[in-house]
Amino acid sequence: MAYLRVAEGCDYRCAFCIIPHLRGNQRSRTIESIVAEAQQLANQGVQEIILISQITTNYGLDIYGKPKLAELLRALGKVDIPWIRMHYAYPTGLTPDVIAAIQETPNVLPYLDLPLQHSHPEVLRAMNRPWQGRVNDEIIDRLKTAIPGAVLRTTLIVGFPGETEAHFEHLLEFVQRHEFDHVGVFTFSPEEGTPAHTLPNQLPQAVMDERRDRLMAIQQPISWQKNQQEIGKIVEVLIEQENPGSGKLIGRSGRFSPEVDGQVYISGQAKLGTIVPVKIHGADEYDLFGEVAL
Ligand code: SF4
Repeated sequence: MAYLRVAEGCDYRCAFCIIPHLRGNQRSRTIESIVAEAQQLANQGVQEIILISQITTNYGLDIYGKPKLAELLRALGKVDIPWIRMHYAYPTGLTPDVIAAIQETPNVLPYLDLPLQHSHPEVLRAMNRPWQGRVNDEIIDRLKTAIPGAVLRTTLIVGFPGETEAHFEHLLEFVQRHEFDHVGVFTFSPEEGTPAHTLPNQLPQAVMDERRDRLMAIQQPISWQKNQQEIGKIVEVLIEQENPGSGKLIGRSGRFSPEVDGQVYISGQAKLGTIVPVKIHGADEYDLFGEVAL
């Protein structure tokens, strides 16, 4: 697996985020340069490429005058890499053309990492993401209809300054309703140099911790249920580790991104760095368990 950076910097100014101050506005690489690097990685035997930037859906805007993610995915579709995964999609950038490119390009995994941060329009406005409140529900529904097997991941911030119990309950209901496959929850942390650092109505850490725990308690049965649905299936797994003592293997299916999602614990024989079929026979809220089905 290799990360492939497609752009650096960000044109947005979310109130809690220091990245634009540190890295400046977005600067994209050309499609040709990214495809050439992907080709090089393929030649080295890389099985999975993860496209990263601050907002991958805005890829190309600075050098081509409009976002070119759909064109980039189609170009990468011609490289001999079994899995291409995209991180950090901003919901407004998941246009019909991008959704079509995901559907049409067989090696692009239907895995969408949407760092939504919150659901309540007032909190999103305070976060300086005012347009997102209108599109959150619509885009998630559109994605689920267009790509029925899509795996949706999101990251959320609880305890943003001024977040009321009512705002937080809106978020709880949002997470309950949309049933994301994976959810990461962070408590707000004031970064010096960002507007949110000096906002009034900062919440005590104990309140933020309690909200994080309540949100995770809503999500855990959903993640458990999603993983249970994998039992009995034969899924493709990239083998990433082996334990010489026990002979067990550890890998990831396309539903799991490295470091943030779960893993697949496997018995049987398979070579490190290969993608093999695995019959899933067990699951908890994070991980899957199975055996090589060659
Ligand atoms: S949170 Fe993301 S979109 Fe917002 S400013 Fe930071 S990098 Fe840009």
